[in-house]
Amino acid sequence: MASTNAAWKACPGSGLLTQTETWTYRSITSEDRARHEAEVAHLRSPQWAKREKEYDQAKNEAHPDWGWEVLDDYEAEGEKRAQEEIDRFDHWEKNQGGHGGEYAVCSVCGTRVGATRRGLAPRHKDTRSARTWDEVTRLRKTIQAMEAELDRALNQLARTQDD
Ligand SMILES: [Zn+2]
Repeated sequence: MASTNAAWKACPGSGLLTQTETWTYRSITSEDRARHEAEVAHLRSPQWAKREKEYDQAKNEAHPDWGWEVLDDYEAEGEKRAQEEIDRFDHWEKNQGGHGGEYAVCSVCGTRVGATRRGLAPRHKDTRSARTWDEVTRLRKTIQAMEAELDRALNQLARTQDD
């Protein structure tokens, strides 16, 4: 594994504590709505059912050993998928601007990373580029808070040892 990783330089944030950021559902635009309506119409069209059936049949004939499924009713399948698309869009519509979820970012480079169980950033590529003044300000605040935390933790440990 070391040989594959040697090709790129790891971000110094690898193995350090991550930060949590939240994402919100963005507002639906007229383009989003048009795309959604076109998708639903497409899934409900006889052309979709016909093409999907031909595709599955061709695959099944070419590779009978793959166990590729040819459905009985492709129009019902299209309707099922159209309904899933409608449900997904309804969910988005109801949650516009609302809290979506959280994700971990590297505290050094700000890249989205899948945090390990201990909340540490896995080894990842160094992709740092120039920073904005806002980012520099936030970085300084983070360092000041972490320095204060370090002092507090050291004082606490020193007190425990005195006891
Ligand atoms: Zn990083």
